Amino acid sequence: MTKQLLKSLLVDTPAGSPEGLIVRCLSQRGAISAAQISKLTGLARSTVSTALTGLRRSGVVVESYSVDEGIKGVGRPAATLALNPEAGTCVGIHLSLDEIRVVVADVSHSFIAEKTVTLGLDYPPDRAAKLTKAAIAECYDENSLPVSGLLGVGVSVSGPVSPEGVVQRASIVPTWAGVNIRDVFGPVLQQPIFAANESNCSAIAEMMWGAAVGCEDFVLFKIDLGVGGAIVQQGRLVTGIAGGAGEFGHISIDPAGDLCRCGNRGCLELYASFKRPLEQIERVKGFRVTMDDAMRMAAEGDVGALRMIEDTAEFAGRGLGIIGSIINPPLIIIGGRMALAGDMLLNPLIAAYERHTLIKSRDVTPESRTRIIKGKHTENDSLLGAVGLALSHHGMLK
Ligand SMILES: [Zn+2]
Repeated sequence: MTKQLLKSLLVDTPAGSPEGLIVRCLSQRGAISAAQISKLTGLARSTVSTALTGLRRSGVVVESYSVDEGIKGVGRPAATLALNPEAGTCVGIHLSLDEIRVVVADVSHSFIAEKTVTLGLDYPPDRAAKLTKAAIAECYDENSLPVSGLLGVGVSVSGPVSPEGVVQRASIVPTWAGVNIRDVFGPVLQQPIFAANESNCSAIAEMMWGAAVGCEDFVLFKIDLGVGGAIVQQGRLVTGIAGGAGEFGHISIDPAGDLCRCGNRGCLELYASFKRPLEQIERVKGFRVTMDDAMRMAAEGDVGALRMIEDTAEFAGRGLGIIGSIINPPLIIIGGRMALAGDMLLNPLIAAYERHTLIKSRDVTPESRTRIIKGKHTENDSLLGAVGLALSHHGMLK
């Protein structure tokens, strides 16, 4: 079995062979049963069975009985079929304020290595590409992995990314605005590069390994020091024509409000992120307070910290009420570090959503209600989603 065979099956056209459909399905979903393959690909059980016989004989597909926990609780289920882990690997990269994180996973969705490269603020793209290449080489070397098995690299970027891979407006690293991620990383890494906005990567992580497994339609709403979002419909990310879909943080809810970092006034992010509440807690307490500190203080009964979480929830629920009236999704996943506040955040947020959206829970049957839950991978979601982007090929989960 060769890397070339797997590659040809992965890039087969959607209307292609049953083998190509099955391999792409396994690459996207990890370890699943033959029945699930049949359901997801639309192929008859007998067709799946015949194709799997050939794929197993050539070593592309193996039976997977192990349950192995990867980083932060990501693992494969038991007794299923998966791509042969020796058939190839994918790399995920997350570009953040002053560091680059790299993760390596094999095509059976086992996570093998993780590395962080620390950089100064405003690092230039070409330096990032070179250091990333070195970090990837170290990951492969330390785990005795053949670099020839690398099938693709997913890059998670803070800021909208066009379908062509151009960072439209870099919100965290200004030096990346207008940069084509594929042009920067492609020549250095010599691999297919897939790039997406970090919130879209978070949605991929939740869809592949988290709270949205098996869900084809949902909205992700990230609450952290900023607000991000993603829309998934029929198993696909809605990116918009220029990559600007799901930028919920920059819905202007007060035209006379304060100036936002995007240049508009009164953006939802100014009210529904936890940046200002943290500043207010710090002002009252007189010492530095992190998000973790604020959540711990609230859990221990600090009324000021709890009030700040509840106020954030109110604004987030109000913003989500607008999104609910536009999309009316079956599922909303709350991501970002604020999701770790759990019910302290979720209860007032759900109540606010209910007040501000058009369709009320009491008006519809339980099956037609929008569920609002917290994400599973709120701390690693962008990085996990970056490798998911490469595994799912072009970020299209179908
Ligand atoms: Zn804004």
